Amino acid sequence: MPKTQTCYWCGAPADSREHVPPRSLFPTAGDTPDGRDYRSQLVTVPSCYQHNGAKSSDDEYLLCVIANSILGNGVGQDHAKTKVIRAMLKSAGLADRMLNGVLQVDVEDTSTGERAPTLALKINARRVAASIEHIARGLYFSEYQHPWPGKVQIVIEFLVVINDSDAAQRNSTYEDLRQHADALFADSPRRGQTPEVFFYQVHVENGSPQIMRLTFYGGTRALAIFIEDQR
Ligand SMILES: [Zn+2]
Repeated sequence: MPKTQTCYWCGAPADSREHVPPRSLFPTAGDTPDGRDYRSQLVTVPSCYQHNGAKSSDDEYLLCVIANSILGNGVGQDHAKTKVIRAMLKSAGLADRMLNGVLQVDVEDTSTGERAPTLALKINARRVAASIEHIARGLYFSEYQHPWPGKVQIVIEFLVVINDSDAAQRNSTYEDLRQHADALFADSPRRGQTPEVFFYQVHVENGSPQIMRLTFYGGTRALAIFIEDQR
């Protein structure tokens, strides 16, 4: 009998495995222009029913948000045009959530100074953060072979605040944070078999992981901050 596996999040007996990040983020051969399959050597961790993100619709929502991010590379954009469109056509609820509150905005390419119109999606940040917490805890478990015992705070780096009275101030706080994270992780090794889709970096202090940076499609990022429980 194999040893009973325990959940990557809570340590309860596991009854399934969870992909971290979700498998749906990785394009299959039929959806890539060059026929490349990105679904090889994906990380999986044992999971109980409650902590398997694939059993909720959160993973699908995360996929739509991340693949549509303007910060991502061509792999993400191709994925948005294929898999994501199919998911939205299949689920009216998902399409509603994605398109509700869409705004047309101008974005400036800071390297060329060119401005172009695009669409801004209104994001349920709490829901996106919940999915990213699954990924961060799963990756922690896959590295250390035990669940992270404390809290995990997720910071979504790719949000822009629009139409809020304090938008300018909040966006400048986000920008500061991105610059700090860029500096902190500049020389940190990138882990992940297909970095065009996903890689992560871990900032370790005193032998203990403090912050993980997750990068989707080359440029859409989030931070996971590991916070020890106060006793
Ligand atoms: Zn669990």
